[in-house]
Amino acid sequence: MKSWRDNIRNVVPYTPGEQPKEDGVIKLNTNENPYPPSPKVLEAMNHIKNLRKYPDPAAADLTEAISSYYGLNRDEVFVGVGSDDVLAIAFLTFFNSGRPVFFPDITYSFYDVWAGLFQIPYETKALDDEFGIRAGDYYGENGGVIFPNPNAPTGALLELETVRDILDHNRDVLVIVDEAYIDFGGESARSLIPEYDNLLVVQTYSKSRSLAGLRIGYAMGNKELVKAMNDVKYSFNSYTMNEPAIVMGRAAIEDEAYFQKTREKIIKTREWFQEELRNMGFSFADSKANFVFASHESIPAKELFEAAKREKIYVRYFNKPRIDNYLRITIGTDDEMQTLAEFLKKQIRP
Ligand SMILES: *Cc1c(COP(=O)(O)O)cnc(C)c1O
Repeated sequence: MKSWRDNIRNVVPYTPGEQPKEDGVIKLNTNENPYPPSPKVLEAMNHIKNLRKYPDPAAADLTEAISSYYGLNRDEVFVGVGSDDVLAIAFLTFFNSGRPVFFPDITYSFYDVWAGLFQIPYETKALDDEFGIRAGDYYGENGGVIFPNPNAPTGALLELETVRDILDHNRDVLVIVDEAYIDFGGESARSLIPEYDNLLVVQTYSKSRSLAGLRIGYAMGNKELVKAMNDVKYSFNSYTMNEPAIVMGRAAIEDEAYFQKTREKIIKTREWFQEELRNMGFSFADSKANFVFASHESIPAKELFEAAKREKIYVRYFNKPRIDNYLRITIGTDDEMQTLAEFLKKQIRP
C-alpha cells in the first residue's frame, strides 16, 4: 500500500531554547540581550508606513542603513528574517557541489539541520581540547566552510589572522563566518571582504542590538554573492522583511551611542562573572561572546542545570557528546548574574 506518508521530507528539526511562561524567571538560556532595544526603535514605530501595502521586497531602507553603517555598498548587503534565514538561504545558494561542507563538531546546532534539510553532505572537524578551531582541519578539499566566530556554544574567538588562514586555503569555495556574537569582543572579518570574493560575513540584530523579537539578520560580502542570494530569495518568498522590521531596524542601527553603551555593559558584566566562576573552580574557555560555557569538576552540569531551574534560573544544557558536562550561561544584568553567582556558590559549598 502506497501512502502519502512515504513521500514526506523527513527532517530532524533544530531545538530552540526554552521560553518559560512563568513569571519571575531569570532567563539566561537563549543569549538574548538583557537590556531593551534603543528607545529610538519604539519611537520609530510611529513612522511605520501603510501596512495595507506590501513592503519593499528589497528592504532598501534597511539595507542602505546597514551598508552605510559599515561603509559598504548597498549591493554588498543582504537582509533576512534573523540570521537563521540568511544562513539557510546561504546554504541553499552556495553549498551545491556535492562535496562535504566543513564545520566544527561543537558549534551552532542549526548547521547540521540545514545540511539535512537541503541534503548537503558535511563533515565535522573536532575542536581541540581547549575548544579551539584548528585552521589546518579546514585545508582539505570541501564544498564550503562555515563556523561561528566567536564560536557557539563555546564563546572562543578566532583571531582575524586565523580566519584569513582558513580563507587562504579555501579560495574556490564559499566561506561563511557567522558573527552572531562578534560585537561582544572580536574583530569582524568584514575588513577582508575586498580581498576575498568568496567570503560571506553574517551578523544579527538578535544579540548585540537587543532585537531577537524583531527578526533581522544580514550578510555582507561581494556583490555577486549578494545577488545570488537575492535570486534564491526571490524564487522562494519576495517579502521576507516586513514593514515594521524595515523601519525599526533602520532606527536601531542609527543609534550608535545606545549600542555602544549596552555592549560595554555586557562585556563588563561578563568579565566580572568569569572571575567569579574562576574563583568557584569552574573551567571554561575565555569568552568573547555574551555567554560563558562552563564546567565544574565536582558537580555534574545536568544537576546544576536542574537545580537552577527549580530556583527559576534558566541556563542552557546540551546533552551531547563532549559537552554534556557544560552549562551555557547567557550574560544578563549585574543583578541577575549576582543572583546566579550566589546560587552557584551554595551548590558548590552546601
Ligand atoms: C543566535 C545565533 C544565530 C541566529 O540568530 P537569529 O536570531 O536568527 O539572527 C545564528 N548563529 C549563531 C551562532 C547564533 O548563536
